[in-house]
Amino acid sequence: MRFQDKIVVITGGGNGMGKAAAERFSSEGAIVVLADWQIKDAEEVAASLPKDRAWPYKIDVSDPDAVKKMMDDIAAKYGKIDVLVNNAGILIPGKIMDASIEDWKKISSVNIDGVIYCAKFAMPYLVKSKGCIVNTASVSGLGGDWGMVYYCTTKGAVVNFTRALALDSGVNGVRVNSVCPCLVKTKMAANWPESAQAQFKNRVSLGRIPEAEEIASVMAFLASDDARFITGVNLPVDGGATASDGQPHLG
Ligand code: NAD
Repeated sequence: MRFQDKIVVITGGGNGMGKAAAERFSSEGAIVVLADWQIKDAEEVAASLPKDRAWPYKIDVSDPDAVKKMMDDIAAKYGKIDVLVNNAGILIPGKIMDASIEDWKKISSVNIDGVIYCAKFAMPYLVKSKGCIVNTASVSGLGGDWGMVYYCTTKGAVVNFTRALALDSGVNGVRVNSVCPCLVKTKMAANWPESAQAQFKNRVSLGRIPEAEEIASVMAFLASDDARFITGVNLPVDGGATASDGQPHLG
């Protein structure tokens, strides 16, 4: 019960890794806020958790005024914020000559702006609670992928935001880390054809695509007191994918 009565705000808490994180933190005693623009999904997750220990909150993280109001509302309701899991994100694939300016505005507004707004407006409360942030970056922020130039750019921004924010926040006792998953079985990855999934497995030393719960357990570790001397780290949760130098898997 590492998070007994901690207030844990999880963006994108209605699906995928955010949902798995909600279940994990809740199972360790937390009160979770499921901050998602798909409010029905967030409500469903909340209904599956212990009564009065989960609050579904409709939010578009790319709206700074709404994010500020949300953090203030949460602090007003519970008196504090202990952990921000900055996880909401979208994927728009494409090469630069195909993907539009509108695509860039949309993906950057969620994956970069949203992450910054949530951190900025949660920070005053995290300073008070000596809390922490776990961002969901990606292995796509540690290196490039073919045909995903905007996505990789946004996740690269989250990776360096994690480092720079950690430097500034240590003096206040606030830790900032990220998880960097490879392909995970969520809605975001649901449309990948079987042949593509096989290619992913081939690049992962552990030879399989992880479940969302296997990322959520690492988020919980990074947010817990067990990780109290870890900050500024972008931790791959990728079954060994980034252990490779990038050459083909022949052996
Ligand atoms: P998902 O689509 O299953 O869930 C994402 C959730 O975020 C959804 O509930 C969605 O409604 C919410 N969301 C999206 N935009 C939002 C916004 N503007 N405001 C509020 N909520 C919003 O996806 P997932 O795979 O669980 O993704 C979670 C995070 O993990 C994302 O940041 C994603 O980039 C990252 N990631 C995913 C993979 C993967 O293979 N699935 C790999 C690495 C990193």
